[in-house]
This record gives sequence, C-alpha cells and structure tokens, in this order.
Amino acid sequence: MIERLEDIKKQAENELRNAVDEVTLHNVKARFLGRKGIITEVLKGMRDVPQSERPRIGQAINEVKEFIEGLFEARLREIKEERKRHILLTEKVDVTLPGKGTRLGNKHPITQVMEEIVGIFERMGFEIAEGPEVELDYYNFEALNIPRDHPARDMQDTFYISDDVVLRTHTSPVQIRVMEKQKPPIKVIAPGKVYRCDSDVSHTPMFHQVEGLLVDERVTFSDLKGVLTQFARLLFGSHIKVRFRPSFFPFTEPSAEVDIECVICAGKGCRVCKNSGWLEILGCGMVDPEVFRSVQYDPQRYRGFAFGLGVERITMLKFGINDIRLFFENDIRFLKQFL
Ligand SMILES: [Zn+2]
Repeated sequence: MIERLEDIKKQAENELRNAVDEVTLHNVKARFLGRKGIITEVLKGMRDVPQSERPRIGQAINEVKEFIEGLFEARLREIKEERKRHILLTEKVDVTLPGKGTRLGNKHPITQVMEEIVGIFERMGFEIAEGPEVELDYYNFEALNIPRDHPARDMQDTFYISDDVVLRTHTSPVQIRVMEKQKPPIKVIAPGKVYRCDSDVSHTPMFHQVEGLLVDERVTFSDLKGVLTQFARLLFGSHIKVRFRPSFFPFTEPSAEVDIECVICAGKGCRVCKNSGWLEILGCGMVDPEVFRSVQYDPQRYRGFAFGLGVERITMLKFGINDIRLFFENDIRFLKQFL
C-alpha cells in the first residue's frame, strides 16, 4: 500500500511538472484527487487494511494528497507567471523607438510666395482688391488703352469666351473696376489668376499675377521707384541691386521694367540671366492719362503708378526652379521641398 502511494506520488509529481498550461494542470489534479480519481480508489482499498495499519496508511494518503495539492498550487502560480512574462515580452511597447509621425501638408510654393508678396505691400498700406477671372473685353483691353485695332493685342494670346468676353489676360482690369467705384486716393494690390494661350518651360495657360495701383494728386515716378525698390529688397534681400529699364505698356506712360541683380550668379552672368547679370521681375509705369479718362478721373489733377508681376516667375527665381510646369504637376516629391 505504501509502495503504491509512493508510485502515485512520483507519477503525480511527474505529470504536474510536465503540464505546460492551466487546463492540463487541472486535468492532472482531477485525475488524482477528483471524486473518481486515483486517490479515491486508494481510499476504497482501506477496507482491506488491518485496523492497526489504518492510521499509518491514512496519514500517508493525506501526505500524498497534500503533496499533490501543494505542487498543483505551485505549478499553477508558475504557469500564470510564465504567461504574464510572455505577454509582457510580446506585447510590450518600446517607448524609446522613434514614432511614426504623420506628415502634415504644406502650402503650395506659389501660395507661399503670393502671400509673401501681398504681405509686403499690405505692410506698405496697400489694400487687397479683387475682380472677375471671366472678364469683359472692355475691362481687359479697351479701358486700359488697348482698342480693338491696337497692335498691343498681338502681344496677348487671349482665350475668348465670345467677342466681348475673355478670360482675363492680366490683373490690370481690376485697376479699372476699382477706379470706377472709388475716388482717389487709391492704394490697392490685386492678386489673382490670369490666362493666356501659351505653354512651354516658362509659360502655362493659367498663372498668377499681382497688380498694384496707387493714385493721388501728387504722385511721381520717384514714388514708384521707392515703393518697388523697397519691395525688391524685402523680397530678395536688402543687399539686392535694382534697376529700372525703359519699356512700353499701353496703359502706362512712361513705362519701365524692373530688374534685380541675378540671384543665381550675383551679377556675373549665367544661363538663367542669359549672361546679362540681371533678371526682370516686374513691369510698371505711370498711369496713362487715357486710362484716367476712361474712368472719368481728371488727368490734370490725378497721377498714379501701376505695376504687375508674375508670381510663378518670382517663385522660380526665389527657389531656383527651371521649369514652370513643375508647379502644376502636383508631384508630392516636388511640393514637399517647400516647407
Ligand atoms: Zn545670372
């Protein structure tokens, strides 16, 4: 009997130690200590044990039961610990790893430069004015001293909607609309989209311009030079050299182109500035008296200056971009360089 109990003890110990999960462990315990288990079977055999032997055998059985229960509890704790360790190991978060950042979008380079240009003029006291992109021929051409038979219309490759309606070819019609509505003094800036039938490395059918107009009683070409020189310095740096070169526009007289010293070669001459050392950044001039007449301003009393610049061109010069079409291809690899 005692030998049998020793065998049971060894067998139970072996099975409990080999159980790797809780279910197996409980099954082993039930098989030894359950109501129909091995120990119960042994107890039934007590009937055949002589009365004098019973206390010794009974004690031995109890010891085996306690041994199995004790080992079961210990093994159960081990298995639970083991599982906890496993979970901690496989599901732990390493807070020292670099995070997966969400990339935020950024403003389009054209928008950035447009806002910078407008911001400079706003700080000089110019107000923002707007006008329609689908414009009457009258505002786009005639009121700006470009009659139907005027040779200057050849300079404009215009999208016609009908004989009298066009997609505006410049932001200058905003000047007329502003002057029709209000009397001088006028100090406005008109940013917006313009359209021309043109497409190559430096032209796109849609591009952006910023137009400026200042009208008052005693405005001179010196004011024009002062405002635009200051603008160029604020945009390209205070060291930048600026020059005014005589030019022609139907709606200004005299007219000028404004050049800055080439930002690529610092005036030495390169491919971008065609070896001249200068880059054209905008057109300007004193408002032509004919334009004042079309808005019923007295040309004897009022004077003004106007200017217009292409935002794409300025952006290309600022960032050293050589193909205007990159702005509109929406290639994220290009756009995300302008943070
Ligand atoms: Zn250059």
